[in-house]
Amino acid sequence: MKLSSKINIILLPVMVVVFSAAGAFSYNSQRIQLVSSLSDTVENELEHTSQALIIAFHELESKTYMMLENRHLQNYFRNQSIDSSHYYLKKELIAYAEQLELQYSSLRSFALLDSTGEEVVYYDGIDPFSEVSDISIVSKHIPEFLNSVGKKGIKSVKTTSYQLSKVGEADFELSLIKSFSPDQSLSLNTFSKGHKIYSFVMVFKLDSLYEIYHHIEDKIKIPVSVEIIPSNYSNSLKVENEITNKQSSGHSLSVHLNNELWGIKINLNSGDVEKLFKPYQWMFIVIVIVVTCITFIMLKMLIISQIIDPVVKLTKQVESASSNDSFFIEGASGNDEVSILTNKYIALISDLNNLAKYDKLTGLPNRNRFTSDLGRIYSNSRKYNEMCAVIFFDLDNFKHVNDQYGHQTGDMLLKTFSSNLVDSFVDFDWDNIKVSEFEFSRLAGDEFAIVVGGIEELDVLSLFSQRIIDQFNQGFTLDDISYDIGVSIGISVYPNDATNETELLKNADAAMYSAKSSNEKNTYRFYSEKLDLEIKRYDEINGLIGSSLENNDFNLVYMPIYDCVNGSMIGAEVLLRVDSPCLSDIGPAEFIPVAESSGKIKDIDYWVIEHALEQLSIWIEEWGFNGVLAINFSSWQLSNVEFVNKVEGLIKKYGVAPHLVEFEITETCFVPGVNKNIAILSELHDLGVKISLDDFGTGYTAFSQLIDYPIDTLKVDRMFVEAIDEDTTGKPLIDIIVEMARLYDLKVVAEGVETRRQFDYVQHIGCHQVQGYFLSKPLKGETFIQQWAKV
Ligand code: C2E
Ligand code: CA
Ligand code: CA
Repeated sequence: MKLSSKINIILLPVMVVVFSAAGAFSYNSQRIQLVSSLSDTVENELEHTSQALIIAFHELESKTYMMLENRHLQNYFRNQSIDSSHYYLKKELIAYAEQLELQYSSLRSFALLDSTGEEVVYYDGIDPFSEVSDISIVSKHIPEFLNSVGKKGIKSVKTTSYQLSKVGEADFELSLIKSFSPDQSLSLNTFSKGHKIYSFVMVFKLDSLYEIYHHIEDKIKIPVSVEIIPSNYSNSLKVENEITNKQSSGHSLSVHLNNELWGIKINLNSGDVEKLFKPYQWMFIVIVIVVTCITFIMLKMLIISQIIDPVVKLTKQVESASSNDSFFIEGASGNDEVSILTNKYIALISDLNNLAKYDKLTGLPNRNRFTSDLGRIYSNSRKYNEMCAVIFFDLDNFKHVNDQYGHQTGDMLLKTFSSNLVDSFVDFDWDNIKVSEFEFSRLAGDEFAIVVGGIEELDVLSLFSQRIIDQFNQGFTLDDISYDIGVSIGISVYPNDATNETELLKNADAAMYSAKSSNEKNTYRFYSEKLDLEIKRYDEINGLIGSSLENNDFNLVYMPIYDCVNGSMIGAEVLLRVDSPCLSDIGPAEFIPVAESSGKIKDIDYWVIEHALEQLSIWIEEWGFNGVLAINFSSWQLSNVEFVNKVEGLIKKYGVAPHLVEFEITETCFVPGVNKNIAILSELHDLGVKISLDDFGTGYTAFSQLIDYPIDTLKVDRMFVEAIDEDTTGKPLIDIIVEMARLYDLKVVAEGVETRRQFDYVQHIGCHQVQGYFLSKPLKGETFIQQWAKV
C-alpha cells in the first residue's frame, strides 16, 4: 500500500476520533453552560412568579385594609344596633368592593365575622349558596386567634392569616383574614378585655397565573410545566424563598421554590430541552467535520510535500539508476531529518551498488555487473547488426599456488594479474582496433571474462587473447618469485556461435574448457561446432557414467603382467569395463577423464578397488594366489582426504595382505613438488601397498623429483615401446628411462608390448616386468586365474 493511502487509513480515523472527542467535549461543556443558564432563568422566573404572588397578597392586604376603613363599615360599627344595617352594609361593601381596582386578582368573597366567628356579613360573588364556614382560613384562624388572645391577654398576637389555595386545575385563591377591634387602630395587635373583636375575610381569585406561565415560556422559549402547590396558611407575609434545583439524569430540568405559603415547581421536559440543544448539536457536528477536513488536508499536504515527495523522488532516481546501470542519485540539500535520511540512504545504496557490481579483491566488475554488461552489449549488437564476443579465461594451476603458498599469495596474484592486464590494454593501437567497447570482469575465483562489443574483425579477439597470455610468458612473477601458472582462454562470438547471451557465455566457457583440456599451455580456442560435439559427447558420457554407477553396470578385466626375465605371470593389472550397451564402445581412456572432471571418478575408483580386493581375497583363498594385483586410481583422489582411510578400510574388510596390492597413478596428472600429494601417497604407501607411476614419460616429472615420492615402480608408457620399432638414429628413450630407474632403484614395467621384437628389446635392456597384447590381452577374471593356476 502506498504511503499516501496509508496516511488516509491511519491519519483520518485518528483525526476523526480526536476531533469528534474534542467536539463532543466542547458540546457537552456548552450544554452544561446552557443548562445552567437555563436553570438560572428558570430560577429567576420562579422568584418572579413568587414575587407576583406576594404582590398579589399585598394587594389583597391593602384592599382588605381599604375595606376595613370603609366608611360604611365604620358606620356599621358605630350603629350596629340597627338591624337593617346588615343588609345595607353588605350592599355598600359589595359596591365598594366592586370599585376596588385589582391588578392581579378578582374578588370572590368577603365576610365579616364576629368575635366567635359567626357571620355578620357574607358575600360570595361566585357561589351564592356557599357559607362562610366553607372558607377554610376562617376555621383555622379564628380558633387560633381566640386562643392566643385568651392566653396572652394584652400581649400582642398575630391578627392576620394568609392562605393560598388551589380550587381548580389552574385556579388559585388568595385568602386573607384579619381580626381587629373597631375600638382601636387597625394596626394594633394587642387587645384588652372587653374589646369587641371582629374578623374580616377576603378571598380573591388569582387571575394572573396564566400570564405568568406565558411569560416563563416566552423567556425560556420552550413549553414549561409550572405547578403551584399551596402549602399552608400563614400568619405572616414574610416569605423566604428557598430554591432547589434538580436536574434529572435525562435532560429534563426541574426547579423548585418553596416558602411558607406555597411551593412552585417548574419542569422542563427532556424532549423540549433537547430541542433547545438541537441547533448546537448540528453546529458542533458541522464544525467537527469542517475542522477535521481542513486539518486533514493541510496535514496531508504537509506530509506529502515534506516526506512523501522526497521519498518518491528518491525511489524514481533509484529505479532509473538501476535500470540505466549508471549510479547517480541527486542528494537532498536540506538538513531536516528526511534530507539526512535520504543522503544516508543514497550513501548506503551506492556502497551496496559497488558491492553488488564490483569485485572487492580486484576492483573489476563482478559477475552481476558482467551479466548486465553482456546483456546490454548483446542487445546493442542485435539491434545494430554487429558482432560481439565473450573472451572467457581461467588460470591454470592457480589452485596449486593457493594450496602451496596460501590464500594471501593467491589473492595478491589475482589482484596483480587483474591490474597488469587492465594496464596492458592501455597501450594498444586503439585507432586500428575496431571495437565499440569492452569490459573486464572477474566472474569467480580464477575465472575472468572480457565482453567485447561492436567488433568489425575477429582478429581483434586473438589480439586480446594474446595480450592475456603475455601475462604468463614465464609463469607469473610476483615479488620476484615466478609462479608456475598459465591461462586457458575460450572465445565465443555472436552471431556466429550463439543465438543468445547465455549461449554466448556458455560457449566461451566450453571453448575455454577445450583449451584447458588440450595439453597446450597458455592457449586460446574459438568456439566451433566440432568443439560443440566434443562437449555434447562429454555431457553424454557423463550422463552414461552416472547411470552405469547407479545400475552397477561395471565389471573388471585383468591384464596379466609377466616377469621379463623368465616370462612367468607375476600378477595382473585391473582394468575397468562397462557392460552398458551405450558405453560399451567407450573405453576407460575416454570416460575416465570425463569422470575425473565431473568428480564421479571418486565412486568409480571406490567401486574398482572394492571389487578388485574382493576378487583378490577369493583368489587367495580359493587358488592360493600370491601374485600382485595392480589397481589404477585417479590423481583426483590426491585431493580426497578420505581416500587413504577408505582404502585401508577395504583392505581390512577383505583381509588381503597389502603387499599383494599395487596402486597405479598416472604421471601426467601428477603435480610434482606438491607436499600434500606426497603426504597422501606416503600415507597410502604406509598401508603396506606398493605404488607405481603409470604412463611414465608422458608427464614432466624429472627423475630428480622422484626421490621425494614413495614410488616402487615406473610403468613406461606404451609410446616408448612403440618407438623401439621406429628407425631412430640415437638411443631409444626407453633405454634412458630404464638406466635412470636402475639408479633410483625403481622397478620398471614396459607397457603395450605388441611384438616379439619389442619384447626382446625390453628384456634386453633390463625391464623387470612386461605387459602387452604380445603376451596377453586383458582377460576375464576366471580365465586369468585359470591361466595363473596352470603355471
Ligand atoms: P593404463 O593404466 O595405461 O592401462 C593400460 C591400457 O592400455 C589399457 O587400456 C589396456 O587395455 C591397454 N593396453 C595394454 N596393453 C596394450 C597393448 O599391447 N596394445 C594396446 N594398443 N593397448 C594395450 P584401457 O583398459 O582402455 O585403459 C585405458 C586407461 O584407462 C588406463 O590406462 C587407465 O589410465 C584408465 N583405466 C582403466 N581402468 C581403470 C580403473 O579401473 N581405474 C582408473 N582410475 N583408471 C582406469
Ligand atoms: Ca595402469
Ligand atoms: Ca599405462
